[in-house]
Amino acid sequence: MKEFIPVCKTKYIFTCQFTVKIYLIFNSMDYDRLFLNRAVGIAVSGIEEGGGPFGAVIARGNEIIAESNNTVVLARDPTAHAEINVIRKASAILGTHNLPDCTLYTSCEPCPMCLGAVYWSGIRKVVYAYDRMDAASAGFSDKFIYDEIMLDASSRHILFLHIPDCSGGEPFKRWEEFEDKISY
Ligand SMILES: [Zn+2]
Repeated sequence: MKEFIPVCKTKYIFTCQFTVKIYLIFNSMDYDRLFLNRAVGIAVSGIEEGGGPFGAVIARGNEIIAESNNTVVLARDPTAHAEINVIRKASAILGTHNLPDCTLYTSCEPCPMCLGAVYWSGIRKVVYAYDRMDAASAGFSDKFIYDEIMLDASSRHILFLHIPDCSGGEPFKRWEEFEDKISY
């Protein structure tokens, strides 16, 4: 009996921990779906306002920090994709350029530009609804850019001139020497 009680307790604690873990996993999944639905809803409602059919939300834990739709045409800004907009907003709201605790919910798989922005922002989780093939079927193909990335700079469709012996200064050397720099 003396041995039986501790075993029961251990089993009970293990069961509780397991239940809590399962609950958290499902709870997290619910929030993923909730915030993703929100991002898709923003994409849909943004169309009527002149935006492209893309929406994004940044959340930290169970809290939405920022949300945006695509405003390329409205803002006359080719970089105003929903993901870029929302990363800028969240960074301003949280007062940091680094968002490792945040999750990006986006109506569509990020394009190469936004994918780069996700990495630069330190975001560690991306949840998306539609993929690049869905986007391509709506006229938003980014296959060309993905293909270009794989090429040597000299083989790309845009002219890339590498002129290493410029005389404007040595920014990397200056950066290395600069004592007050904030590394990122
Ligand atoms: Zn993008």
